[in-house]
Amino acid sequence: MENQNHKRRQALIIGCGIAGPATALFLKRAGIDPVIYEADNQKDEYAGLFLNLARNGLRVLKELGIDDEIRQAGIPMRAMKMVSGKGKPLGNIGRTSGEPQGYTVKRGILHGVLREEALRQGIPIVFGKKLEKVDTEEKGIVTAFFEDGTSASGDFMVGCDGIHSRTRRLVIPDAPEPSYTGLISFGGFLRGANIPNEHGIQTMVFGKRAFFGYTVRNDGEVYWFGNIDYPGTPTRRDLQSISQAEWRKRIDGLYANDIPPLPEIVRATKEEIGVYPIYDMPPLPVWHNRSVVLLGDAVHATSPNAGQGASLALEDAIVLAQCVRDIPNMEQAFTKFKDLRRERVERIVHYSRSIGQRKHATNPVQVFFRDLMLPMFLKSANKDSHSWMYDYKVDWSDKVTL
Ligand SMILES: Cc1cc2nc3c(=O)[nH]c(=O)nc-3n(C[C@H](O)[C@H](O)[C@H](O)COP(=O)(O)OP(=O)(O)OC[C@H]3O[C@@H](n4cnc5c(N)ncnc54)[C@H](O)[C@@H]3O)c2cc1C
Repeated sequence: MENQNHKRRQALIIGCGIAGPATALFLKRAGIDPVIYEADNQKDEYAGLFLNLARNGLRVLKELGIDDEIRQAGIPMRAMKMVSGKGKPLGNIGRTSGEPQGYTVKRGILHGVLREEALRQGIPIVFGKKLEKVDTEEKGIVTAFFEDGTSASGDFMVGCDGIHSRTRRLVIPDAPEPSYTGLISFGGFLRGANIPNEHGIQTMVFGKRAFFGYTVRNDGEVYWFGNIDYPGTPTRRDLQSISQAEWRKRIDGLYANDIPPLPEIVRATKEEIGVYPIYDMPPLPVWHNRSVVLLGDAVHATSPNAGQGASLALEDAIVLAQCVRDIPNMEQAFTKFKDLRRERVERIVHYSRSIGQRKHATNPVQVFFRDLMLPMFLKSANKDSHSWMYDYKVDWSDKVTL
């Protein structure tokens, strides 16, 4: 849609992770000219470990016509098999047959697919532009100032700059800070080992000292991660300041007495082990200020336990673009966007955190009750196969009204 002067609107997109390029692609389809500004100096081919792209997120990629690459590069995820520290099966989440619940994919691949599609469609991506300040004083114009001394102006700005969003701190200064869940996540990739592949099944083990999950690709590559309690409020930098050799020693020790193949997977991993603190965002009542709106992790970061953060960011992208396309008044469009999304994202953040709580239990009494209760919980959770989470659909052609 074009504004009253028939001039195409310009959108400043801050951040080129998952939400940024997806939002730019949908805005372009809505007749708006986006430019993406990314703090990093270059494309990050590694960009972290891997994530589960759930089928609700994959549906958004399909709308963009770029889901096939993820299906080909990823590992189909049909069910999670939950196992106690003693090797006792506690139950499955999902179904072992039928359409996968999603695909486990290297984060760098997902970033690359979105970024390349944005570039292919002629959307400029400017690297090395770390947002420092925003000016919304002049009516109808927003100006972003970057750390390198440059600036850019547009009709509106979308903050897609992740959980520690600078945009959020600038435009909603009284927003709560991300909240540490008490857990850290670590993991890596293993090639050339002979780990049995249960095609489409992710195995999740409540290990003796720490939680562990793994899945195997058809070519034999193992993707694995672990979670453990970690004191204080560590930043990613704090965790990275500990040497790889030290992390290897600690992680080997955590799983040394666990059931196979956990110790073998950890010991045989030669590539770098990534380590991340897990934070999520407390509910945010306000998602925009004047002509600046937040989406993705910047406004509702969720812990990774439900495997939904990236998918929610993709859903946000299509819904925001629909709102801006159909509602001429910017602030009304942003308010509508929040109204359409808030209940769902808060439910998922809450649900994901509650799964994480089960990963804390390591004393024998807690473990006994968890292993007793979990099969019942899984049975009831499985009744609707989490359809409330996975079956969310957005039809681009639906018109949004106030
Ligand atoms: C360990 C871990 C495991 C996870 N597992 C899963 C999973 O299995 N499934 C799932 O769906 N989700 C998972 N997530 C969550 C998922 O990664 C996020 O929800 C998703 O990346 C959010 O996308 P985003 O675009 O909002 O933010 P990001 O992907 O964080 O992108 C933000 C971008 O903004 C840039 N940026 C930051 N500050 C500035 C600035 N000042 N100026 C300009 N640019 C800036 C950053 O460099 C980055 O490129 C996991 C997260 C973690 C930490």
